[in-house]
Amino acid sequence: FDDRDGAIWFDGELIPWRDAKVHVLSHGLHYASSVFEGERVYGGRVFKSLEHTQRLQRSARTLDFEIPYSAEEIEAAKRAVIDSMGIVDGYVRPVAWRGSEMMGVSAQQNRIHLAIAAWEWPSYFDPAAKMKGINLALSGWRRPAPDTAPVHAKAAGLYMICTLSKHKAEREGFHDALMLDYRGLVAEATGANVFFVMKDGRIHTPVPDCFLDGITRRTVIELAKSLGYEVVERQIKPEEMADAQECFLTGTAAEVTPVGTIGDYKFTPGDITRALVEGYDALVRADPAKAQAAE
Ligand code: PMP
Repeated sequence: FDDRDGAIWFDGELIPWRDAKVHVLSHGLHYASSVFEGERVYGGRVFKSLEHTQRLQRSARTLDFEIPYSAEEIEAAKRAVIDSMGIVDGYVRPVAWRGSEMMGVSAQQNRIHLAIAAWEWPSYFDPAAKMKGINLALSGWRRPAPDTAPVHAKAAGLYMICTLSKHKAEREGFHDALMLDYRGLVAEATGANVFFVMKDGRIHTPVPDCFLDGITRRTVIELAKSLGYEVVERQIKPEEMADAQECFLTGTAAEVTPVGTIGDYKFTPGDITRALVEGYDALVRADPAKAQAAE
């Protein structure tokens, strides 16, 4: 992914893609002092751009560092990369990390770096293909407790168990994995939040008290309510998945992704999932100016 044309915004300027390198003694590489974002561009615009920028800043503060750029500067930097790459439908990846001045666990004075890359990532909307549903393994790794790790930050270190879970799932023929939390309750997939349509016709999703409260998660909760569905945020035990009729994931990359199986539990993507898949697609592609005028 590093050997290609294009530009990456790196510490204040656009530089050639191939030159966007870090020193091997960077604190971020050795001790995971790194936070990032994943954002989606639809029709040239980043969906919920400022929310992602603010979460990046919050994630950094949670890891005890301050990104040396304001939200406005980060927004302008994203715009510059997207424009220079000519992206219409794509992905944006900002990443901030501690540099290499001092080596050791403590690195209070190390410079904080920020880089932003963006690439074209066409999003094809084929609801029929999507509605087949993906298959998830149940991971043996558990999301840590809030006093064990900075669970609300989008911090690189927290992705260690996501990669382990997803690799194992893929080797066994699954698309992704569902992780439980430290209490054994349903938590999330390796890069997306999870929802269930239960027999009561309501949409249930776990309380995000030890994992990321996704921007897509919140968007889909609002969307579901606006469509007249009831959404219940509560603790969900894994065995309750036997009572779920539909299941779907939400995330910037996943959008709304129907789920067919989680381990031995089976779901049938149905009307509610379809309404949210289509509703989310309409939302991300809506012209914000027009949407505002209609309010
Ligand atoms: N959980 C994890 C572990 C993730 O990586 C993501 C993707 N950022 C999400 C949930 C969903 O977050 P969002 O909707 O903000 O993309």
